[in-house]
Amino acid sequence: MSYVEKVLNDLKERNPGEKEFHQAATEILLTLEPVINAHPEYEKAALLERFTEPERTILFRVPWVDDNGAVHVNKGYRVQFNSAIGPYKGGLRFHPSVNLSVIKFLGLEQILKNSLTGLPIGGGKGGSDFDPKGKSDREIMAFCQSFMNELYRHIGADTDVPAGDIGVGAREVGYLFGQYKRLRDEHVGVLTGRGLSYGGSLIRKEATGYGLVYMLDEAMKMRGVSLKNKTVLVSGSGNVAIYACEKVQQLGGKVVAMCDSNGYVYDPNGIDLAVVKQIKEVERGRIKEYANRVSGAVYTEGCKGIWTIPCDVALPCATQNEIDGESAKALVANGVEYVAEGANMPSTLDAIDTFQKATGVIFLPAKAANAGGVATSALEMAQSSGRLYWSAEEVDAKLKTIMVNIYHNIDNAAKKYGFEGNYVMGANIAGFEKVAEAMMAHGIV
Ligand code: NDP
Repeated sequence: MSYVEKVLNDLKERNPGEKEFHQAATEILLTLEPVINAHPEYEKAALLERFTEPERTILFRVPWVDDNGAVHVNKGYRVQFNSAIGPYKGGLRFHPSVNLSVIKFLGLEQILKNSLTGLPIGGGKGGSDFDPKGKSDREIMAFCQSFMNELYRHIGADTDVPAGDIGVGAREVGYLFGQYKRLRDEHVGVLTGRGLSYGGSLIRKEATGYGLVYMLDEAMKMRGVSLKNKTVLVSGSGNVAIYACEKVQQLGGKVVAMCDSNGYVYDPNGIDLAVVKQIKEVERGRIKEYANRVSGAVYTEGCKGIWTIPCDVALPCATQNEIDGESAKALVANGVEYVAEGANMPSTLDAIDTFQKATGVIFLPAKAANAGGVATSALEMAQSSGRLYWSAEEVDAKLKTIMVNIYHNIDNAAKKYGFEGNYVMGANIAGFEKVAEAMMAHGIV
């Protein structure tokens, strides 16, 4: 049994039932074999055992009172996974599906993603099984304040800097920041994704979606093609999906479908993004509404069918495991050429295998392709520390440079170990090499 296999077996035994964490660890560790084989000193230093065990895991109770006076209790999580190259950094997710396994899978991925940005940020993730859907503003505020009443002890501008994720947008970050400031009496860059009036960065809102498309564009450019007139599927209709769609359209591509957790809309004339923004960002409504407002558009209940629509480019931007093996096969059979992941782990292991085995399909994995969000968060941290603001053009230009650099880094890492074009390996290896070097330098900690 190889060192990697032994670590994976132990990890599954010691973390029973954490299926998302097992999935992420398996995907990552198996691709690191070439690096591990080249560095026998890593096994002696139990590097992988330490890499897959969070430095600190914080679990807490979040009690709150609803508008009718009823008391509710949710679970709160913050996993401070790895601080070898910088303060823990990673989002907070509020969604009923959140559990320790989900937070650990996201945290583990985050370590490598943050390393890939080239910026000094470690990996962490947190959240709660709280469901913000259908809650009043007051209820959201009450929940966020209660969540921060515990979290504030564990975070700090140089320690751990959370941000938004699913269910945590500008409103929630505002309430969380307000409570932190009140408890600590300091106005610092302890959360990113803040509003522009209190330390946020321009382009942060657009960053993950734009960054995804910048990387895709670079991958296409290297093959002598562009997004012009390409047919594109974008799943989701949240923050990542909306701004991925916007950038695709700016570069001449045609997005023909988007979805939410209830179903998808197909618009053969090309999605009218202003309508999606109105429904999702302003009214906080359902994507179903789109078909009532735009003629020619069709709504279908259930999300899986979105992947049966013929396209050149697929951008999964909703949630984990949204493309399974069957959906991946449908995409390939219909001629997909590029799959770039905006969401975290949207493709199952089966789906990734299908994409990688298909001839002519370029697969850009989440931890590289959606790193634009956290990279811009790190730019927000830099602006906060320096007490200054950069213009939208400055931030956008830096974001683009970062995404282009990540593409070439993962491309080179894949080539270096003899796996040209395998960006899953390239991303894991390039991200891991830097973290491993830092961990080795720090001794056994
Ligand atoms: P949002 O909450 O803004 O949007 C999520 C979207 O996905 C919504 O349209 C939601 O629909 C939809 N969705 C959720 N679950 C499902 C499902 N089971 N099937 C189909 N659609 C679903 O989140 P973000 O856009 O911020 O995040 C999307 C993904 O991108 C996540 O995986 C997140 O971790 C990842 N990510 C986000 C970053 C960011 O900067 N925001 C950075 C890097 C990664 P509904 O409205 O019905 O819930």
